[in-house]
Amino acid sequence: MTRVALISQSANLAYFGPLLQAAAPELDVVVWPDPAFREAEVAMCWNAPPGVYAEMPKLQLVHSIAAGVDNVVAGQDLRGLPVCRVVDPKLAEGMVQYVLWSVLYFHRSLDVAFANQRKAVWKRPVQTPALQCRVGVMGLGKLGGAIVRQLVALGYTVNGWSRSAHAIDGMAMFTGPEAFDAFLAETDVLICVLPLTDATRGILGRRTFDQLPRGAAIVNCGRGEHLVADDLLGALDSGQLRGAVLDVFAPEPLPADDPLWRAPGVVVTPHMATMASSTVVAEQVAHNVRRLVAGEPLANVVDMGRGY
Ligand code: NDP
Repeated sequence: MTRVALISQSANLAYFGPLLQAAAPELDVVVWPDPAFREAEVAMCWNAPPGVYAEMPKLQLVHSIAAGVDNVVAGQDLRGLPVCRVVDPKLAEGMVQYVLWSVLYFHRSLDVAFANQRKAVWKRPVQTPALQCRVGVMGLGKLGGAIVRQLVALGYTVNGWSRSAHAIDGMAMFTGPEAFDAFLAETDVLICVLPLTDATRGILGRRTFDQLPRGAAIVNCGRGEHLVADDLLGALDSGQLRGAVLDVFAPEPLPADDPLWRAPGVVVTPHMATMASSTVVAEQVAHNVRRLVAGEPLANVVDMGRGY
């Protein structure tokens, strides 16, 4: 019988037990820190305690419960183990909705209207066509690609940036580090849906902000560690940036005394942009465990050389 250990130092993953067993009744499911986790062949994780896999000699597969794997591999000795993530086609739908709201918030000057409301000021903002709003999307994977297609359909000017080139109708492509500054120079609203890797950590920092046109806005839906918060506060203060919609933070939950909660121009949301259905997560993990047992190729394996 294959044992799956549900492991998280910040969330109680016990609710996955019945879902996993509904999808694959033959599995034996335990919840860390029950000492039985040490005998598990599969670790199903979110925010795994550093070093935990070293205590699991039989471990054959690390499976994230999410699209990102940064917090299941950080601080771990993976010793060549395969790492898989969840790819739920419905995940993109929620992300598209969240990003669309954020783009409209800036493009239709709702940030200005809401600030005026607090002062009882009646001032109608100038309405501009979507084409005049240049949206730059960092990361063109499962989520970024869906965002781009919707924004193009709504008439925005859309620029995309990623490591390798992607052809999406209506999008201007900027490829790799050498095209980054040119991409930023053409961006009024910058969207981050990158995975967190050594190459992307801190990418939303002063250098990036300085390359954007004055008065640009940012939307971070990647990971909190993409953002250098002090640099953002400085850029808002100086007027280089007009505002920021932030969904992800380091750490989460964002501490109550963090200045981001109250910084003018910043919208804080609690990592809610999108979430995979628990049933879909359990089914994908169960299917991968069955593939592992049968010696078949795993689905949604992360390339640990790239880090995503
Ligand atoms: P994918 O792996 O499908 O896509 C990642 C994209 O980022 C690819 O286009 C990739 O380029 C690009 N990329 C990676 N590294 C670099 C780099 N150094 N420079 C330029 N481009 C780079 O990921 P998903 O779209 O599924 O998810 C993206 C991230 O979104 C997740 O890792 C997670 O952090 C975050 N997320 C946030 C959620 C929320 O609720 N806020 C929910 C779900 C996910 P290439 O195409 O060339 O490989």
